[in-house]
Amino acid sequence: MNARESRSPLGPQLAAVREQFPILAQTARGKPLVYLDNAATTQKPLAVLDAMRAFALRDYANVHRGVHLLSQRATDAFEAARARLAAFLHARSAGEIVFVRGATEAINLVAQSFVRPRLQPGDEVLVTAMEHHANIVPWQMVCEATGARLRVLPMADDGALALDALPALLTARTRMLAVAHVSNVLGTVNDVARIVRLAQARGVPVLVDGAQAVAHLPVDVQALGCDFYAFSGHKLYGPTGVGVLWGRAERLADMQPYQGGGDMIRTVSFERTTYADPPARFEAGTPHIIGAIGLAAAIDFVQGLGWDAIAAHERALLELAQEELSHIPGLRIYGTVAGKIGVVSFNVDGLHAHDLGTIVDTEGVAIRAGHHCAMPLMQRYGVAAMARASLGVYNTEDDVHALARAVRKAHAMFS
Ligand code: PLP
Repeated sequence: MNARESRSPLGPQLAAVREQFPILAQTARGKPLVYLDNAATTQKPLAVLDAMRAFALRDYANVHRGVHLLSQRATDAFEAARARLAAFLHARSAGEIVFVRGATEAINLVAQSFVRPRLQPGDEVLVTAMEHHANIVPWQMVCEATGARLRVLPMADDGALALDALPALLTARTRMLAVAHVSNVLGTVNDVARIVRLAQARGVPVLVDGAQAVAHLPVDVQALGCDFYAFSGHKLYGPTGVGVLWGRAERLADMQPYQGGGDMIRTVSFERTTYADPPARFEAGTPHIIGAIGLAAAIDFVQGLGWDAIAAHERALLELAQEELSHIPGLRIYGTVAGKIGVVSFNVDGLHAHDLGTIVDTEGVAIRAGHHCAMPLMQRYGVAAMARASLGVYNTEDDVHALARAVRKAHAMFS
């Protein structure tokens, strides 16, 4: 650890933080592993693994069904995790937290259960130019099924949404606005509160895709004012296969389920089924019980570090990364808007992003190369792919130096 890191609010704790992630203490391709693919998924701290293991060793059983002791304990732990998630997002109650597989399933749930029944031919769903496919395709599917139209809020080259264009795009036909809280490619932090104010002035509900936000900044759904907020546990140091849809209670109460099965019903007969109240109404089948326990532990872990410390640490690393990369000839960084967080996406003249990613990997540095599930955004910049380094709480200045060294090596090989 160097002098600058020890001045970072996480600096004194950084060694202890990294000890929580034994996976990082290995070599890759004969070099110390440098993990900079956190926007794709984060590594899991011992605190999360231990919580899941302890639950599996002592309390595991199916939830909501049994009268026996283990089932009661499992149900209590599962519902305590839900309450933990509600506090994390500043929801009004745990009943507003629907456990899903991840951000993708959360958005599909809202598209199918909330938006689709409200769409008529000629209606509109509005997304933005920087969305992940998970926040495009589900809307396209319901538009295609109903004769509605998908419209797109444009953005500027620096990665800022063109909010001046928003009022004109919020028409009498707009039934939903879906926007990323933070871009997975550009790192832009969108002014969601302002977007929501504009949308709600026209009576348009808003879904926020928080997949890239929750690991980097505190989220208060009341302050944002949105109707739905979606995210995945695995990008927040939690397990895969579990995520959250937060929905305003009135909205959830007004939605029919799109998946049927056990756990989501009140009564079933061959003639007619009645549904449970939310959130159970939207949780058909056995949920990812251990996943929910792990996700609650992940929240304890990040909140234990403190948002200010996380933000300051990651901001310092991002600035360093952008500064070091910008000295490499022919390197272009995408997304230069003030206040960006978490990721730096770039290309080097004459080098395909995949080649760049492969060469960087030979130095033990894990970054992502490709379209980042944002093909329309790649088209917006006129490229097929980008390389992307993305930060987590355990990254160090040495990681950033290793990235810059590896990219310089790739550049030298191809120039
Ligand atoms: N939205 C954004 C902005 C993302 O970055 C991702 C994942 O990369 C998703 C949605 C989808 O998340 P998941 O695949 O965990 O459902």
